Amino acid sequence: MEAAFLRELERIVGKGHVRSGPADREVYSYDASLARQTPGAVVFPADSIQTARIVRAASRAGVPYVPRGFGTNLSGGSVAPPGGLVICLSRMNRILSIEPARRTARVEPCVTNLELQNALAPFGFFFAPDPASQKVSTLGGNVAENSGGPRCVKYGVTKNHILALEIVLPDGERMRVGSEALDPPGYDLCGLLTGSEGTLAIVTEITVRILPLPESAATLLAVFDSVSDAARCVSAIIAEGIVPSSLEMMDAPVMRAVEQSMPCGYPLDAAAVLIIEIDGAQEGLRTLARRIREICETNCCRHVQEAASEADRSRLWAGRRGAFGAIARISPGYLVTDCTVPRTRLPEALACVAEISGRHGLSFGNVFHAGDGNLHPLLFFDPADPDQIRMVHQAGMEIMKACVSMGGTITGEHGVGLEKKEAMRLLFSEEDLAFQRSIKRIFDPENLLNPGKIFPETPDPPPAGEGTDVQIDGLEELVPSSAEECRQMVLAALRKSLALVPEGSGSWRSFGNLPARPWIPLRSRGLCEILEHDPPNQVVTVGPGLRLKRLQAVLASHNQWLPLRPFLDRDGTVGGIVALNACGPERLLYGSPRDLLLGLGFVSASGHLVRGGGKVVKNVAGYDLTRLMAGSMGTIGFITELTLRVAPIPQACTLLSASGSLEATRAACKELLASCLHPAFAIATPEDDEAGSAARRGWTAATSRWRLYVGFEGFAETVQAQTGSWTSRLESRGFTNCSAFGYKPGPGPLKPIEARLDHDSCPFLVRIDLPLDKTLDCAASLAERCHLPGHLLVADLGCGRIRAGFESFGPSDWEFLLGMARRLGGYALLERAPDPFRRAHDVFGPPSLDWSLMHRLKHALDPAGLFAPGRLPGRK
Ligand SMILES: Cc1cc2nc3c(=O)[nH]c(=O)nc-3n(C[C@H](O)[C@H](O)[C@H](O)COP(=O)(O)OP(=O)(O)OC[C@H]3O[C@@H](n4cnc5c(N)ncnc54)[C@H](O)[C@@H]3O)c2cc1C
Repeated sequence: MEAAFLRELERIVGKGHVRSGPADREVYSYDASLARQTPGAVVFPADSIQTARIVRAASRAGVPYVPRGFGTNLSGGSVAPPGGLVICLSRMNRILSIEPARRTARVEPCVTNLELQNALAPFGFFFAPDPASQKVSTLGGNVAENSGGPRCVKYGVTKNHILALEIVLPDGERMRVGSEALDPPGYDLCGLLTGSEGTLAIVTEITVRILPLPESAATLLAVFDSVSDAARCVSAIIAEGIVPSSLEMMDAPVMRAVEQSMPCGYPLDAAAVLIIEIDGAQEGLRTLARRIREICETNCCRHVQEAASEADRSRLWAGRRGAFGAIARISPGYLVTDCTVPRTRLPEALACVAEISGRHGLSFGNVFHAGDGNLHPLLFFDPADPDQIRMVHQAGMEIMKACVSMGGTITGEHGVGLEKKEAMRLLFSEEDLAFQRSIKRIFDPENLLNPGKIFPETPDPPPAGEGTDVQIDGLEELVPSSAEECRQMVLAALRKSLALVPEGSGSWRSFGNLPARPWIPLRSRGLCEILEHDPPNQVVTVGPGLRLKRLQAVLASHNQWLPLRPFLDRDGTVGGIVALNACGPERLLYGSPRDLLLGLGFVSASGHLVRGGGKVVKNVAGYDLTRLMAGSMGTIGFITELTLRVAPIPQACTLLSASGSLEATRAACKELLASCLHPAFAIATPEDDEAGSAARRGWTAATSRWRLYVGFEGFAETVQAQTGSWTSRLESRGFTNCSAFGYKPGPGPLKPIEARLDHDSCPFLVRIDLPLDKTLDCAASLAERCHLPGHLLVADLGCGRIRAGFESFGPSDWEFLLGMARRLGGYALLERAPDPFRRAHDVFGPPSLDWSLMHRLKHALDPAGLFAPGRLPGRK
């Protein structure tokens, strides 16, 4: 590496923080995979400013670089380009804030996962993702790899828990993406960056969502004499509608290795064990544990043993967490494969692993996240034997092929890095890969940031062609009946320089800015079929034009549902719901469409059919296009197919409502969100008297009464207990008129409250998103300052979202709301407004720094401005 460049690095970070001696370069030449490449130097920045200066210097010198946490990556992602620069972020290791009332924590990238968990525990909180490497893997690495862990079967993977990132882009620009307030306007850049394996930007600060620790947990060890019985049992548990907090599997070779290294009491004569943990409210946990025991017994389990004490439980987990390390005692080298299959295919997948390893003469063991279908076959080999190295890679590739042929993916959580680049072709077409590579080029045109990762060397496909005989002249709407026909229509529109606006039912047609030029609606109603429903694996694939009600009806016959109740509109199309990331307050328990979308197909603005994601619940192969497309408001492409995770219908749903003062409501909400109760939602509205109290002058928020609505959904016993416990807590806080009643999960109980904000009552509908702890006070000031009738205001206290309807509304009202939202750390947008107002104002408010990145994406992915031009924030 050039001496002048090294001197420049030293000027930026100080002499002691640049290393280029042979020993240092050797130490940073590998990670936990088999990949090896020696860097030219290693630099240790202290903060994001130094990181940005290093990136600019590397760009000027044309030196490729890789960001690095603690190097535990299992796919070669943290290995530098040969002779390149390692930017090791290990000095950026502070926990910056923990805010239980907001359910957030802010950290620098090299805080380890376990350090954060330990810091949160005294507050009664935890960070859900828990990779087995949590002692030594950093949160920056977890974000870059979208890491999973045993708990992810219930709580989701890293991407489901990241709220905001501070990043350094390859041009040295520093920027914040995401927000403590949910769904900042436009593309989910935070979601796109999570899982991008350090190839799009360097993460220098992370804001995560934290959750209250569960009240109690039970840990079971189910012992099996056959691996396939254990695998079948996994599906049986999930099919029953039980969502354990962990469902892990280990086979005999791994148990033997663990017992040799740290005796944990695993049965050495068994073929496999499942570690099954359930957590949550105390009530109902015993019933659940009993039911799991029964399911195990009907699936040929030899016996089930329950951890009798915390020490017992820790012992069982210590073995699981230490399993990879323990393998080192029985084999000098091993390759960790990481594939996901639909859970029901686990027995078959494990049989394939045995067959493939046997055929190559390799010993192997299995330890993995069975509840997610996420396999980790460990293939043992001798690193001194080149033949074995070749064989082990060959066997790894064959296992990936087998898993893909079962509907699975090549990596569930370890990433593609260097080692699985070629396997990307098993999943993705040339068009798919080209679309993803174009994202890389937008972020990193010089290809200096972690180059050579993720993508195989394939040429970009030719342009999409001329199109055939589809005529669109003079049509008022385009209604394709197949993805191919849609593609032809897109090509025809491109030729004629027309603009297209994707539309579902049209109920939220007015969402976003007015299109910038005349356009034709491209409607999804011709693509409205259920293409595939896989009830045991809880996955459904549908056309975008399918109505939510119809989907719910079909799913209900299998006792399942899509756990979404989009605000005001329970019968929109699934494509429209995903395109707007539309959901209601139940998101607190179930997540938003972004969390439920597993994969999709769409026609891009260049007329290619592109696929992203897949059909399994855990998948980190390539950039997460599901995150990019969900919430993109039809500005990137026309969605032709969606695969979504569905859930068992809750056994019971109860709404608890009560009336209290503002102060009591604030205190109750704080208690609820810090408690180990699992409400499905919590909303509040100011109570109106006959005159509509909030509308009267002289009304003050402080003296007003508020109606609090809390929903509990799930197992009947748990719901009943939680409702009972919460009723007495509210009464003890002075709440009156407490009532509880059951409701149907599909429509939910809040429709009448939302209906007051329909178009006829209020042509202007404002949405304000805020940090959780600011929501109620913001709603109170809004009601007071705007003399808003209570029934036109709904504060979603569980998600930090306020909706307020106005009959009339002027620029000064808009300015006031924008200012108030900004001061409180959130933002406001107009979800509905008459066209003249939309023409005069950006409905997303004033520009934010990250909009420029969003506009770069839009411009590069849709250079002709084909899809919904002008709709984005900033009217692009
Ligand atoms: C024994 C063992 C068990 C494991 N168990 C699990 C498991 O259960 N679940 C799981 O998901 N993974 C697991 N892993 C894999 C690994 O621990 C994770 O991928 C982890 O998130 C990597 O963190 P790290 O700090 O070591 O990152 P590194 O290995 O240093 O980096 C990983 C990738 O992230 C990029 N990167 C790192 N920091 C940043 C940053 N700040 N900004 C941008 N890019 C960055 C790097 O360039 C690289 O591409 C395991 C690994 C081992 C060795």
